[in-house]
Amino acid sequence: MIEVKNLTKRYGKITAVDNISFSVDTGEVLGFLGPNGAGKSTTMNIITGYISSTSGTVTVDGSEILADPKKTKQKIGYLPEIPPLYTDMTVRKYLEFMFDLKRVRLPKKEHIAEIMRLVSLDKHGDRIIKNLSKGFRQRVGFAQALLGNPPVIILDEPTVGLDPKQIIEIRRLIKSLGKKHTVIFSSHVLSEISATCDRIIIISDGKIVADAKADELQSVLSGEQRLSLTVEGNPTQITEELEKIPDVLKVKKTGGSGYSVEYRQGADVRREAFSAMERINAPILEMKSGNESLEELYLRLTENAKGGER
Ligand code: ADP
Ligand code: MG
Repeated sequence: MIEVKNLTKRYGKITAVDNISFSVDTGEVLGFLGPNGAGKSTTMNIITGYISSTSGTVTVDGSEILADPKKTKQKIGYLPEIPPLYTDMTVRKYLEFMFDLKRVRLPKKEHIAEIMRLVSLDKHGDRIIKNLSKGFRQRVGFAQALLGNPPVIILDEPTVGLDPKQIIEIRRLIKSLGKKHTVIFSSHVLSEISATCDRIIIISDGKIVADAKADELQSVLSGEQRLSLTVEGNPTQITEELEKIPDVLKVKKTGGSGYSVEYRQGADVRREAFSAMERINAPILEMKSGNESLEELYLRLTENAKGGER
């Protein structure tokens, strides 16, 4: 349904999005996860045709955004980070206005009523938007994105600033959308994404650092990348010897005689660790392959990022 190929966006010296490629299948709910400044909004703004890319292409349901912006935009409902609301209008007036702006060709009254019902705004049609709470405003933004029943829905950090109850409602809404639409939504909060998505892409410093099914992410990426060791002997010497093993990435002392050894994906350093400790006469009391938690994984994958808005 969505095909992103070699997408790059530069702002002067800043590369906000750095040659990313991915595709999203029809009916898939894709979570776009990354710390602030990772390039999520930039990517979404390019997919939806709000801004142009420096290079690369985006195809939505067979039409290319640059070649046919009008047709492509009609296939996408977009809720940007800051929803484009006219706060002096009532909810219904605003949705009617957006309906006309988007040139939706459905029975107007019925369609708007249906969408207001879907996002539980049906009792609030006559309220003025500026008097609504943040959660209700977000629903209006949602409703606006759903106008015209576009096959693709893109939501940029839809739960930011909402309270836990509202977050649960929005999650539910996203899940229900996934039944009829292809959805991409972004967040910098891991739990947000893992609770709602079929698939997760982690972006850091403008690059994709992980792309996997939500329930496979952990095993795909962490596998047995970490070894816990309990070794008797001189900690400095032990650490140095372990670090010399070619596939070892990092050695951390974890308290007592414990060490945590991170090593390259796909490698197995157990035998080398054993010989190394034998060489320095440091007896291994325990050796265990441990998995990192999803939370640790996310932190590790994004920790090299420069972090924050650059
Ligand atoms: P995210 O949505 O993941 O927080 P953004 O896509 O907003 O990240 O930003 C990615 C990077 O691009 C950041 O370093 C940001 O400062 C930079 N950036 C975004 N928009 C602009 C712009 N209009 N001009 C210059 N730099 C920008
Ligand atoms: Mg953003």
